[in-house]
Amino acid sequence: MLFQRILSQPVNRLLVFAMIVTALLPISLLAIHLNKTAWESGWREIHEKHQLLAENLASPIEIYVNDHFSALSLLAATIQPVISHQPQLKVVMDTTVDKLKGFASIAYVDVSGKMLAYKVAADVFDGDNNKIISPYIFSTERCFLFVRQTEKQYISGIKPSPFNLKPTLIMGMPVFNADGRLRGMLLAELRVSLIEKLRKQIKFGKRGHSAIVDQNGRVIAHPNPEWMTEMKDLSSWPIVQAMMAGKTGATEFYSSFVKQDMVAGYASVPGIGWGIMVPQPKSEVAAQVNQFMFSNYLWGSLGLLVAVLFGILVSGWITRPINRLAKTSQALLDNNLNGDIAYPSDFEPREARQLGYTIKSLVRGLQKSRDEVADLNRNLQYKVNDATKQLRAANSKLRETVKSDFLTSLVNRRYFEMDLADILSRQNKDLDHISILLFDIDNFKAINDSYGHAAGDEVLTQVARKLEYFMRKGDVVARYAGDEFALRLCCDRRVAMSRANQIRQAIEDLDIIWRNIHLQVTVSIGVYSEILSDELDVRNILHKVDIAMYEAKKRGRNCVKTFNNEMATVLRLK
Ligand code: GH3
Ligand code: MG
Repeated sequence: MLFQRILSQPVNRLLVFAMIVTALLPISLLAIHLNKTAWESGWREIHEKHQLLAENLASPIEIYVNDHFSALSLLAATIQPVISHQPQLKVVMDTTVDKLKGFASIAYVDVSGKMLAYKVAADVFDGDNNKIISPYIFSTERCFLFVRQTEKQYISGIKPSPFNLKPTLIMGMPVFNADGRLRGMLLAELRVSLIEKLRKQIKFGKRGHSAIVDQNGRVIAHPNPEWMTEMKDLSSWPIVQAMMAGKTGATEFYSSFVKQDMVAGYASVPGIGWGIMVPQPKSEVAAQVNQFMFSNYLWGSLGLLVAVLFGILVSGWITRPINRLAKTSQALLDNNLNGDIAYPSDFEPREARQLGYTIKSLVRGLQKSRDEVADLNRNLQYKVNDATKQLRAANSKLRETVKSDFLTSLVNRRYFEMDLADILSRQNKDLDHISILLFDIDNFKAINDSYGHAAGDEVLTQVARKLEYFMRKGDVVARYAGDEFALRLCCDRRVAMSRANQIRQAIEDLDIIWRNIHLQVTVSIGVYSEILSDELDVRNILHKVDIAMYEAKKRGRNCVKTFNNEMATVLRLK
């Protein structure tokens, strides 16, 4: 369902969607790849940088320590001739300590551990220079014992100063007799503050720093002053153990000082065994990588935005002409193909242009067909109307022909009988009587025989005109047969008889001129009158009036006879 809904979306939406997906795929892959490489190269760079920093800090420290060993060595050579003369020894040592600012104190100790001369810097006792110092303060010092035993120079780990218990580093330098035997040694305190100064120079990021530990893993220099004061033992830290083992490298660890995971480069100071580490919170490294990635994401999003805008433009360009075609085509259909489709622009896609031209010519074809069909329909309608008119005229003519007699133009017998039947069935309340008159021209055959059929026709026509002349409203006169005419009058017998006699007389008086020949005819008339009722029957009436008419013939012609009971007997006999 969802799939179907997606696929049935408008083309421009589908195109934009396709372009977004197409743009997103490479951008996402690139982002994943960049993210991975950024972290990898970030870590590598950080590791290398930190390791380099640690190594760079190691060499000045090494130089610093070695320089002070050299200074002590020179001092040892200098004091050799004056060892026996304590005042002179003291002068030399005083001068040296004042000049060599790196030493907090220098003492000359003989092999028994007795301090024969010493000089401390002004700040060692914080002004309390009257402090009583035991001549044997160095006798249990590891430095003293080491130098006496090995007759070699030595530097201790960080430890409390024998003079003021503050953290210090004790350097030992053997002093030999002229014959090369150990006479005593110089024991000097190397200032930690100068090492701390060096350490402080390594500082980066927000919490990136450096720290220096001695060969025992104790803090010599560290951003945490408390750790320095208490000479914190960090020997349990793996990174410190690695440094104590003389290794150089980079690692990650959790710092209880910063309370964060750290990434650190480390190196050991050659010859001394101290360790230098340069840690930085992992989060800062991550922030750097994220910042790098942020700019990548920004560019990626910008690319996507450009792709979407471009997609909208392109899809609009492709679908606009199609939509326009769809809309105008629909409008044309709704408007019964009235109107037109504009010509496609040259800047539209080729297929859209082709489609535009095709639909345009299709519409034109349809419009032409529609107009032709409309013309045809119009013509057909005219023809149908015309034909209908003609048919109506023909029908009415036919109706007239069917009901009228050709020669006299009177209605014919068929119509007369239908009309009579109609009158009988209608039972008109205004009409209470009906009278039928049947005329037969007397001796008509003789006229035909004497003057020809045309003369007979003329006689029939003239008689018909005369009968018409006597008609009143509601009467019907018909040519009933050859020389017979029938009349239906809406009157009773008395009136019918009277009118029949009038007509008979009028025909007798009628002067018919045919080809200058005067012709005269008479008619025999049968009359039948009756009160209108349901029992009356057309056949019966016509039969009765026919009998009456024959009766008139029998009685000598040119007379009127009405149907009576006697005739009814004849009827019954028949
Ligand atoms: P009667 O007095 O007994 O009626 O004598 P009649 O000669 O009139 O005899 P009948 O009525 O029987 O004759 C009718 C004649 O009418 C016969 C026929 O030739 C003639 N006739 C019928 N129709 C036409 C017609 O349309 N034109 C002409 N000219 N003659 C017709
Ligand atoms: Mg006749």
